[in-house]
Amino acid sequence: MPRILMVASEATPFAKTGGLADVVGSLPRALLELGHQTAVVMPRYGNIATHDWTQAWRNVVVYLGRHAISCDIWSKIERGVTFFLVDCPWLFDRWGYYGHPDDHLRFGALSQAVLAVIRLLWRPDIVHLHDWQSALVAPYLKTRFAADPTFHGIKIVYTIHNLEHQGRFGRAVFDELNLDPWLMRPDFMEYFGDVNLMKGGIAFSDAITTVSPRYAAEIRTPEFGCGLDGFLGRHADKLRGILNGADYEEWNPATDPHLAAHYDRDNLAGKTECKRDLLREFGLPLDNMDRPVLGIVSRMAKQKGFDLLASAAWEMMNDDVCLAVVGSGEQRYEDLFRGLASAFPGRVAAYFGFNNKLAHKVEAGADIFLMPSLFEPCGLNQIYSLRYGTIPVVRATGGLDDTVDGGTGFKFWGYWPHDFLLATRAALDEYRRPEEWTARMRRAMDRDFSWSASAKMYSDLYRGLLGR
Ligand code: ADP
Repeated sequence: MPRILMVASEATPFAKTGGLADVVGSLPRALLELGHQTAVVMPRYGNIATHDWTQAWRNVVVYLGRHAISCDIWSKIERGVTFFLVDCPWLFDRWGYYGHPDDHLRFGALSQAVLAVIRLLWRPDIVHLHDWQSALVAPYLKTRFAADPTFHGIKIVYTIHNLEHQGRFGRAVFDELNLDPWLMRPDFMEYFGDVNLMKGGIAFSDAITTVSPRYAAEIRTPEFGCGLDGFLGRHADKLRGILNGADYEEWNPATDPHLAAHYDRDNLAGKTECKRDLLREFGLPLDNMDRPVLGIVSRMAKQKGFDLLASAAWEMMNDDVCLAVVGSGEQRYEDLFRGLASAFPGRVAAYFGFNNKLAHKVEAGADIFLMPSLFEPCGLNQIYSLRYGTIPVVRATGGLDDTVDGGTGFKFWGYWPHDFLLATRAALDEYRRPEEWTARMRRAMDRDFSWSASAKMYSDLYRGLLGR
């Protein structure tokens, strides 16, 4: 079976800001079960302590413009998967993983360090890249360093987790990336005079995947293409959608260590206890036990539909519901929830920040989960919600449309507050009919989005590329 080396900017359990980390943390393990050897390369951020890691290589030097950057490589086997950390404190030991002015250097160094890992430590048959942060590996392997015999025959898979973030930098950055000058053209990495790293990943990979079939179709349209729909159209023959899987070892209400009580489809009593625990955790009065609790766990970004929520929330609160939110991101959305909490004291509570334990408690303790996304490449929280019997109300876009159906959740189509309100009301109406609601919860909990089917699709893709 082919050996797979993944490259990404985050992976559970070491670093996470969103779904990318869940995928890179769990797909390699699912591939392992199919017989692949798998490894992951990622940065060593400041929060990752290396005392139980092995120093695999010292002083790998990569060259970016006038910078000669020295990195150390750490390794560790986690659940059968080999992880390599690229350690360069002045680049990665910072507050926040992204959004620094020298991100091109940070992820350029990561990408070149990957070449060193391949030469020195772990030669794969397939390099599987994720999002813009590792996209540079593709042009490096296929152009600048293509003559190195170590790399001959290696095929590249590039996965787009979110087309909105493309790694776009000013023209001057190109000279710092050690790329061949001819790549700075619109059919490769130029984008309206800027450098676009994701375009490099798309242009130089042997196969492109994105994280749901629906999103794979959507990103070829101007509405969802983020300016790259035409470019993706030119590479459409190698583009396909493969739905993300869920890691049910981590997200399982019958065993979840973060919960006050456990439950499953045949014994739902524990869910009531989880609801009580959630209210306590958020400091909400226990009279909310009689109300439907709406839950949100999300990055607070426009993508997630918070503008829609802002327009619908006051009306929604009139339905005598309780709202529990965990999220971090844009100030204006945090302010929205602060406003709601003071307008509806005792019925709205929000935690601003990243808190995995609380995220699990919301998934288990809420009755209804809201995900009115403007766009959603795959979305994992609705998949976790289904498993936790927490009925999702979602906008039918991307992976939300692929994973939620009329029997398990409530969907709406237009990006209009009224549509969102109607879908939520339909859920609330059914919530007041306990028999129907319980049947729906069971149907939702029965849905299986484990990795097995999707990992098999990736495995077939890898083997197809290698002609095996
Ligand atoms: P995205 O990757 O676009 O943020 P996904 O639904 O694919 O959205 O994945 C989000 C992941 O991040 C889920 O595992 C979710 O539980 C987690 N998450 C998001 N925000 C928070 C937060 N504030 N605290 C804890 N976990 C969070």
